[in-house]
Amino acid sequence: MNTLKPCGECTACCEGFAESNIFGNVMRNGKKCVFLVDEKCCIYKDRPEVCIKFQCAWSQGIISDDLRPDKSGILAYVKNLENNDQEIFAIEMKNDVKFSDHFKLINDVKKLNTNLNLIYYKDNKNKDFFKPKHKIFNLKREV
Ligand code: SF4
Ligand code: SF4
Repeated sequence: MNTLKPCGECTACCEGFAESNIFGNVMRNGKKCVFLVDEKCCIYKDRPEVCIKFQCAWSQGIISDDLRPDKSGILAYVKNLENNDQEIFAIEMKNDVKFSDHFKLINDVKKLNTNLNLIYYKDNKNKDFFKPKHKIFNLKREV
């Protein structure tokens, strides 16, 4: 059974760091979900499937406990690709992410699977996360 960690006060995936479309309302970097009111989902019981299904890597328990997105400033999640491969996407949500957390994430992903690419987006001021400068760590090459 897939047991998820409770999100606690974290609302990172509702704040636009994960791109989505919620009932026709685009949510993306710099544009939080319109249903996030006072740091809570105001339609929680009726939230769409995309929200119910979304799991960040922290909530799945596949990265270190102390990398909860709101605390570390890094939102990481597994992305399923068309060719059935997977990648880990990680987005820096603030400017002062600790180097130690950055490297902790790299090591966590290495431990998961050295074939995984970690796509790390490091640019967080109202810019397009999906065309930014970013770094691809090919973990297979690093080991
Ligand atoms: S980013 Fe992860 S921990 Fe934070 S609210 Fe979303 S699923 Fe929960
Ligand atoms: S509908 Fe609710 S759970 Fe979904 S992104 Fe918006 S605030 Fe978050």
